[in-house]
Amino acid sequence: MDCIFCKIVAGKIPSLKIFENDHIFSFLDIGPLSDGHALVIPKKHHKFLHEMSEEESAEIGRALPKISKAIITATAAPGYNILQNNGNVAGQLVGHVHFHIIPREEEDGLGFRWNPKLYPENKAKLIQEMIMKELKL
Ligand code: 5GP
Ligand code: ZN
Repeated sequence: MDCIFCKIVAGKIPSLKIFENDHIFSFLDIGPLSDGHALVIPKKHHKFLHEMSEEESAEIGRALPKISKAIITATAAPGYNILQNNGNVAGQLVGHVHFHIIPREEEDGLGFRWNPKLYPENKAKLIQEMIMKELKL
């Protein structure tokens, strides 16, 4: 498969690895938004987060806090963002699930656009019901 991140996991493309176990691989982003900006990926190829198995999801959940702690300790960053894009429309450029860990500093200028809107009358309730139906709660 022609996937950059699968090639990185296989060692066919070099990367600055920071963590690896049976399920997870983590390495520094080649175009960092800040020092220590890293990516955490499942070794198995999936495009979307929701395509991962429960086991892979749990492994990601275990790895993220551990790697985040190491990054903010090493860089002395007072905070960080976890960012995870799904689909081209959401800004996903590489089609292999990945979590960004982005260390933040005071006034680092890394603002994310966040333009909240208001639901029109009853729409939130309708959406809540549709989602819960999918989750069969
Ligand atoms: P996305 O926009 O898909 O969420 O982010 C993809 C990220 O992968 C970008 O931040 C980009 O800099 C990073 N990236 C793309 N190609 C490579 C590569 O070959 N090596 C590394 N280390 N990072 C990469
Ligand atoms: Zn892949």
